[in-house]
Amino acid sequence: MNKPLQSKASSRQLRQISREAGRQLAAMQELSNAPQALAPFIDALEHVFVANDPEPLLFKDGQSKPVIGIYCILVPEELIYAAGAIPIRLCGGCTSPCAAGEEFVPRDGCPLAKSSLGLTAQQGLAVYDLCDVVIIPTTCDAKRKFAEEVSRFQEVWMLEVPHLKESEISQQAWLQQVMALKDRLEVYMKSVTGKRTKITPKGLEQAICQQTAAQEQVRRLQLLRARESALLWGRQAMIVAGAYSFMEVGAWTEALRVLNDELETRTAGSVCAEKTPRLLIAGSPVIFPNFKLPNLIEEMGGVVVIDESCVGERMLYDPVGHPERDLRSQMIALAARYLMPCICPSFAPNEDRLVTLKRMIKTHKVDGVIYHVLKGCVVYDFEVTRVERALKECDVPLVRIETDYSPEDVEQLRTRIEAFIEVLHLRKEKNQ
Ligand code: SF4
Ligand code: SF4
Repeated sequence: MNKPLQSKASSRQLRQISREAGRQLAAMQELSNAPQALAPFIDALEHVFVANDPEPLLFKDGQSKPVIGIYCILVPEELIYAAGAIPIRLCGGCTSPCAAGEEFVPRDGCPLAKSSLGLTAQQGLAVYDLCDVVIIPTTCDAKRKFAEEVSRFQEVWMLEVPHLKESEISQQAWLQQVMALKDRLEVYMKSVTGKRTKITPKGLEQAICQQTAAQEQVRRLQLLRARESALLWGRQAMIVAGAYSFMEVGAWTEALRVLNDELETRTAGSVCAEKTPRLLIAGSPVIFPNFKLPNLIEEMGGVVVIDESCVGERMLYDPVGHPERDLRSQMIALAARYLMPCICPSFAPNEDRLVTLKRMIKTHKVDGVIYHVLKGCVVYDFEVTRVERALKECDVPLVRIETDYSPEDVEQLRTRIEAFIEVLHLRKEKNQ
C-alpha cells in the first residue's frame, strides 16, 4: 500500500467540491414548501462536503470510533455496528475528482468509480481519510477492478458476492463470506482498540433492531410519497437518502421520524401542480452531489415520486427476519436478508427486479420511467430492454438517459427530458 500516491487534494479541489455540494444544497432550500425537518439532512451533507467536518455526525458525545468505508448496499452494516465501529458509504458523486480518478479507471469506466478513486487517491475530503479499511463487494466488473486500485491507498476487504443467488451453493458461499467478515471485524477491532472484541447475539440483536427501525421509517416515507398529492420533491427525498451514508443510523432514523411526522400532518398541500407527471428513476445510482438528472426532471415539469436505486428505495427496504436469538441463526438471517431480496443487476437471473418495478409503478401511480445509465455501467444498461418490455405491459413509457458526472450534456438532456415529460402530460390529459 502506498499512501498517498499523489499529492493531497489541492485546496482548489476541495473548494470545487464544496461549491458543487453547496450549490446543490442551496437549491434544495430554495424549493417551495420545503419541510422544516429536512434541515438535519441538509446539515449533514453540508458537514461532509462543504465544511469538510464529518466527525460531529459520526461520533456521539465526541467519542470517536473506528470508521469503516463501504462501497455497496450488500455490506451488512449491522455487523459493523455490532463490532463497535461505524460504517460510512463512500460511493462518490462529486464531479471534480473524476479527472484524478481517470488515472486509475479507464476513460470509459463508470464515473462512480472515477469519483471515488479520485477522492481516495488525492486525500483531503475527511470522510475518505477517516477510513483505514474499506469493504468492497465483488458485484460488477467495475467494483472488482476498482477494489484492486483502491488497495493502493487503503486496506481493502473484498466481499465475494455470488451472481446466481437462487442456488444453494451460492447461498452457502455467501453465508461463509458474511461469517468471515464477522471474524475479520473482531480481529480488526482488537488491533485498533487493543481490546478483545466479540460480536455477541445481544450486540447483533441491537444492531439489527436499530436497522429495522430505520427501515420502518423509510417505508413510512415511501407510503407518504405514494399519495396523490406530492408532499416532497424527489430531490429532497434523495437528500434524505444521501445523508444516510454519513450519519450514525440512530440519529438519521430519528431525523426521518420527525420528517415523516411533519409530512403526515402537512397542510401546505402538494409541492407541485395537480397534473404534474409522476416519475420513477430506475437504473444506476444517483449520488449526491451529482443531482443532474433529478434536477432536470423536476425543473422540466415532472416530480420524482420514487426511485429504485441503491441510494434510495433499495437501500433500506427489506428487514432481517431473525426469529432465533442465537448467533448462528442471526448470521443466517442476516446473510439471507442481504442476498435474497437484492435486485442489483449484477445478479442473473434478476426477474425480481421487474416485479419490484411493476409494484412501484402501481403503488406510486407512476406515469413514466427515466432509466438512468451511468456511462460505462454495463450491468444496468444490459437490463434496459428487459425493463422496457415489462413496462409496456403496464402501459408506462420509459426513456433511457445515458450520462456521466460532467455538466457538458445538460442542455442536450434537458431537451430530451422536456420532450418526454411533454408526452406524459399529453397522455395524462388524454386519460382523464
Ligand atoms: S448497484 Fe449493485 S453493486 Fe452498485 S451499490 Fe447497488 S447493489 Fe451494490
Ligand atoms: S453497478 Fe454500475 S454504477 Fe455501480 S459501480 Fe458498477 S458500473 Fe459503476
